[in-house]
Amino acid sequence: MYYRKFNDYLKEKYGGRIQKIAIDAGFTCPNRDGSKASGGCTFCNNESFSPYAMTKQTVKDQIEKSMEFYKNKFKNTKGFLAYFQAFTNTYAPVEKLREVYDQAMSYPEIIGMSIGTRPDCVPEEVLDLIASYTIEKPEIWIEYGLQTAHYKTLKKINRAHGVSEFVDAVLRTKKRSSIKICVHVILGLPEEDYDDMMETAKLITALPIDGVKIHPLHIVKHTAMEKQYHIGEIKELDMKEYAKLAVDFLSYLPKDIIVHRITGEAAEDELVAPYWCSPKHKMEVLKAIEEEFQKRERLEKLSLRVV
Ligand code: SF4
Repeated sequence: MYYRKFNDYLKEKYGGRIQKIAIDAGFTCPNRDGSKASGGCTFCNNESFSPYAMTKQTVKDQIEKSMEFYKNKFKNTKGFLAYFQAFTNTYAPVEKLREVYDQAMSYPEIIGMSIGTRPDCVPEEVLDLIASYTIEKPEIWIEYGLQTAHYKTLKKINRAHGVSEFVDAVLRTKKRSSIKICVHVILGLPEEDYDDMMETAKLITALPIDGVKIHPLHIVKHTAMEKQYHIGEIKELDMKEYAKLAVDFLSYLPKDIIVHRITGEAAEDELVAPYWCSPKHKMEVLKAIEEEFQKRERLEKLSLRVV
């Protein structure tokens, strides 16, 4: 095992398969509604994130239907993790958040939740609320979208937050040590070079972070980046290049960091580029990463022999 996969971590800890349930709780995002900015991040068309989660169903319906589906599909399912994925899942009054999270946490089969959000959307009362669930549920995660540790890139991709807000959110979150933190990073953002990307890894290493999600930049339809791509302003990574970057990136992180994702994809009818970021190529990408690890292992053994 070259890195610690989230599924393996869950399997070891709970003795079987833990299935994530993606939930769209109907939240929006301050980077879209004008309170921080409008238009959203230049790569974001939220509908492409999870075609299964974009729904008008209630949270209860989404959970119950998903649990039934997965229980039939995977007989060895031991439990579930509620994943609040779409948009910014802490962006609402605390009472509204409590109502939504309570619904998800009321099921005994659900061992916890993972809440996707922005680092500038976690006031103290929201962190206190999230921490309160750790008394009953062992697996409570916040997933912060950082994408890059470079302010100029953040500005360019219209994130409408800085690096300092991310550091502040992580440090405040970890005052409640029972909450686990996962960070989202995109490799291959416009105008970032190799050193820039590795610097993002080094920042993650310097902070109390439990997990990462690493994605290659992929351009989806109906985004600002789609237009930039078509006029040649964005260079796409090729699969092998991404595999090398991902392995290098992981080499800077602590060995025990939990890798929630090592690649990312969009539905074929939403994807503009690169072609290999579609679900049908996912296994090839994982294989390319595995081969890159194996290649380095062989080289390391050889160099040890030479010494
Ligand atoms: S990526 Fe996240 S923060 Fe950016 S616009 Fe989309 S939902 Fe909002």
